[in-house]
Order: sequence, then structure tokens, then C-alpha cells
Amino acid sequence: MADPNDPCIACRIVREDHRPPGGVLWRAGGLAVHALDGPTPLPGWLVITSEAHVRAWYDLPAEAAAALGGVAARAMQAQRQSLGAEHVYAFAIGDVLHHFHLHLVPRYADTPARLRGRGAFESRPEDALPAWRVVAALETLRRELGRTPQNGS
Ligand SMILES: [Zn+2]
Repeated sequence: MADPNDPCIACRIVREDHRPPGGVLWRAGGLAVHALDGPTPLPGWLVITSEAHVRAWYDLPAEAAAALGGVAARAMQAQRQSLGAEHVYAFAIGDVLHHFHLHLVPRYADTPARLRGRGAFESRPEDALPAWRVVAALETLRRELGRTPQNGS
């Protein structure tokens, strides 16, 4: 597996030099909202990444630190209102990727127990959703977050 820090995959995502499914969905306050960059067992799994390359939450520029709560709340509301998530977890771990990112992981009524909470990070290859379902959820979120679709899918 390639080293996600050399070059930094988060920097590549925020400058749109690397495209996770759906691309960058929304930007505000020095933060970019996009999907998990890889297979996901849960539709609408979002990640908030700082545009600045900083190690973690404690190093965020003032503007991004101030914006983070509102951006996270708005994204979670979109996951709940437009995708029907009954709850959304937030995880900022950063052991692997050393660039601030906050996972917003939706939980649905039919999410199996083993994929709830931090179990979402322990999914199996066979749990991965088909690409069309991942992208459909992200396009719904993009509309909800008020950004027009990008070209090139
Ligand atoms: Zn970076």
C-alpha cells in the first residue's frame, strides 16, 4: 500500500489533484468536504479535510478551527435529512494520514451491529458498496450542500 503521506493524499484531494468518489462536494472556511477515499460499507461516509497541510485539529489555522463546528453540523444534517441517516459519528484519529481530517460516518437503521461506531473502520471487502450506490449518495449530498455538479464525474 502506498504511503498516504508521501506525497500527502489529503493535500492532493483538496487541490483536486486526486479525486475520491464524487470529488470535493463542498468547501467552506478553509475546509473541504469529500467522501472516504476508498471502498465504503456505508453510503454517504464523508470526510472533512483542512485545505492547509497541518498535522491535526490542534494545528488548524484559526479560520478553519472556527468554521469546523458549523461545517460538521451542516454535513451531518445533510446526511440525516437527505440520506436518512439516524445518527452520525465523528472520528478524528490521524494515526495513518498526518493531515487533519474528520470522518463523519453515518449510521442507518439497517446498519449491522458490527459496522456501527468504530466498527465502520473494520469492514470486510465484501461489505463494500457498488460504485453507483456510493456516487448516488454523494450526488444527493452535493445537491443538499448547495454545490453544482462538477464535470467529468
Ligand atoms: Zn497534506
